[in-house]
Amino acid sequence: MAKTVSETTAIPPEVLAKYEPVIGLEVHVQLLTKSKIFCGCANRFGDAPNSNVCPVCLGLPGTLPVLNRRAVEMAMRASLAINCTVHEHSRFARKNYFYPDLPKGYQITQYELPLATGGWIEIELAGERKRIGITRLHLEEDAAKNLHEGFAESGTKAYIDYNRGGTPLSEIVSEPDMRTPSEAYAYLTTLRQILLYTEVSDCNMEEGSLRCDANVSVRPRGSDAFGTKVEVKNLNSFRYLQKALEFEIERHIGVLESGGKIIQETRLWNQGDGRTVSMRSKEKAHDYRYFPEPDLLPVHISAEWREEVQRSLPELPEAKRARLMSEHKITAYDAEVLATGTALANYFETASKSGASGKNVANWMQTELLRRLNDSGKQIEESPVSAAALGELVKLVESGHITSAIGKKVFATMFETGRGAADIIAAEGLAQTVDIAAIEQAAREVIEKSPENVAKFKGGNEGVFKFFVGQVMKATKGQANPQVVNDVVRKILSA
Ligand code: ADP
Ligand code: ZN
Ligand code: MG
Repeated sequence: MAKTVSETTAIPPEVLAKYEPVIGLEVHVQLLTKSKIFCGCANRFGDAPNSNVCPVCLGLPGTLPVLNRRAVEMAMRASLAINCTVHEHSRFARKNYFYPDLPKGYQITQYELPLATGGWIEIELAGERKRIGITRLHLEEDAAKNLHEGFAESGTKAYIDYNRGGTPLSEIVSEPDMRTPSEAYAYLTTLRQILLYTEVSDCNMEEGSLRCDANVSVRPRGSDAFGTKVEVKNLNSFRYLQKALEFEIERHIGVLESGGKIIQETRLWNQGDGRTVSMRSKEKAHDYRYFPEPDLLPVHISAEWREEVQRSLPELPEAKRARLMSEHKITAYDAEVLATGTALANYFETASKSGASGKNVANWMQTELLRRLNDSGKQIEESPVSAAALGELVKLVESGHITSAIGKKVFATMFETGRGAADIIAAEGLAQTVDIAAIEQAAREVIEKSPENVAKFKGGNEGVFKFFVGQVMKATKGQANPQVVNDVVRKILSA
């Protein structure tokens, strides 16, 4: 076995610092078309195994593929959203290899003429922005799924579910522009958000609709040349991507520091051990014997079609964040949270139409709404409190009609019952006691009952001030405006 010092010995930080990691990602996303890429079978996750299959996607002899126009359109959407040039002409090729999940003996993919090339996305880390190049985006078919576990005979048999075979995929290859595992993480989350915004994929890593392979190498800092890279597979969560890269970078540095050489190979991340293991070396790499797919016409994309798709793109995350900040006067942090998804951002904007301030709506959403949605396992689309209803509530608090403490109780009832704020406030008599005289009377009674605390206050003990305010709030059943109570108590005490 090769000497891999780093796997047993922690490498001192000053040694790690001598090297610069170089990372490039290859991301596969399943496109959300209704049918598969070359046949009419349903493209749906979770159906009974081998229920969405036909002679085409089972690779039976004599069948011919027919390209799904929606798949091309979705790949175009993704390409344009990541600033790629969509080519007028692209072409499918056959990538030949044998594996049970590939019944034709070849995968139809794009090779030397991909759909789109030369794009970029911008990531942000600790306030610093950085552009990561996108080499290409191409279309291909997914393979079937091998099932190794969960059967009576899983010890001796494997099963194949051909439902996944023929699912349209876009492969997005980045330039080797990332320099830290955190940058790779930021790239993948940013890319995922763009793909979600454009509705080309549900990007569900657990279900495999977003899959990522990482290429990584290290080089001495200051060097221009790239080191030998290793490809890491089996990264089925964002956290694993980061952990696998951290492990792999240390492993490379350990090997180089002990005078060894990195061999170009594919490795698998093993989450159980928290390490990568060799899967196959480059010498054993397949020769895929790519050649143009004779059963499909070249893909032709007219300028009109491309422009139409370009026009149909939604506002993208970055533009949305900037607009939310300027139009609604909210902080970068709030904009970031609210632009997590388009549904959340739309909710915010609809709620703000009530005339309530963006800052307050943002606060109510983050402190009350998101917490309760989270606790009840609901998505924003399923919120029992509509955006307009939250807007109305925030407005009632802003205008002093109810205190914010009461507002929170009203919100809880709204969330449980779906009733409106005004209705609940009227039915439960929660409207603000703005009657200052009533507050003053309550304050005088509380203060008269407690001469020893008055003495403490006069002796400089500010703490008892809160006690008085609390007592007055209690006496007015929490319906008085705390700010008014504060003012009244201070006035009486300092008289
Ligand atoms: P291959 O021929 O092995 O498929 P490519 O040049 O097509 O390699 O690159 C595949 C991925 O690996 C891309 O995401 C690219 O950015 C990345 N990559 C290429 N060279 C390196 C390197 N030296 N270190 C890290 N990543 C690299
Ligand atoms: Zn089919
Ligand atoms: Mg390649």
